[in-house]
Amino acid sequence: MKTLSIVVPVYNEEESLPLFYKTVSEVLAGIPAQSGLIFVDDGSSDGSLDTIRALAEKDSRVKYVSFSRNFGKEAALLAGLRAAEGDLVAVMDADLQDPPDMLPEMLSAIEEGYDIAAARRITRDGEPPIRSFFARLFYKGINKISKTEIADGARDFRIMTKQVRDAVLSLTEYNRFSKGIMGWVGFRTKWIPYKNTKRLAGETKWSFWKLLMYSIDGTAAFSEVPLHIAGAAGILFFLISLLMILVIIVKTLIWKDPVQGWPSLVCIIFFVSGIQLFCAGILGEYLAKTYMETKKRPPYIIKESSPDK
Ligand code: UDP
Ligand code: MG
Repeated sequence: MKTLSIVVPVYNEEESLPLFYKTVSEVLAGIPAQSGLIFVDDGSSDGSLDTIRALAEKDSRVKYVSFSRNFGKEAALLAGLRAAEGDLVAVMDADLQDPPDMLPEMLSAIEEGYDIAAARRITRDGEPPIRSFFARLFYKGINKISKTEIADGARDFRIMTKQVRDAVLSLTEYNRFSKGIMGWVGFRTKWIPYKNTKRLAGETKWSFWKLLMYSIDGTAAFSEVPLHIAGAAGILFFLISLLMILVIIVKTLIWKDPVQGWPSLVCIIFFVSGIQLFCAGILGEYLAKTYMETKKRPPYIIKESSPDK
């Protein structure tokens, strides 16, 4: 029988955890795999860790690691994957937005020979329309400018083989963007569609601002096109300036009429310096990422983990 490790990132999910555990246990009872849960407490400030400890106490299939502070979901996923030793590894959220009853279907996809079975939202119901709009825009944009396929609507909810898990862990970058990493490693993926479900309790930890920053991180991690755009903008402006010089020379020679006054000048200065700052900003974004990578800081610090039994 295959072993399945389920990685669950947890950040302030005290209200969801008991029902999550109950629902998942019920589903696990019916699947032909020996399963274990790995909770990664991402520095929760509520009673999540106590709940997890209690679960680990009474159920030997439950393991956990707990971070010294909140390091973000990406770090939590990394820690969970590192701790997952099963032949198959699943990743799912603690808020039951990833329906556990999809696990059997995912498992049978793996049995069929797929390396990854992943959930893909076909609707974004229950999400603010403005958030859906920008999310769609982001996926369209990033897939145009990145060679790596980043699937729209894909969640982190998936089952992968040990081979895929090892491949994901072989990417040692500090700036982790799971959706990109999963696309980058390749393998055969079966996409299983499902309808978006509302969070069980609590609130999403992703504000609009956090999502925007995350999308910028993802873009910088999986595309160099913004840098080329900066270069292309430089060339374009050089060509435009040549044209303008020519026009002014000709106008002055024929009509003795150089272009008038400072309004035009000021507009041009503002416009061009705006573009310059924008391009410097793009450069800065990549530089900042490189800076963080060269520091080689660990992506998380573990404060406590479940006692070995
Ligand atoms: N999460 C985490 N660290 C964070 C934010 C979230 O481990 O800094 C966990 C959270 O507990 C949940 C999952 O990541 O299990 C998804 O978070 P959330 O439901 O807030 O995201 P959404 O479903 O809205 O995309
Ligand atoms: Mg959620």
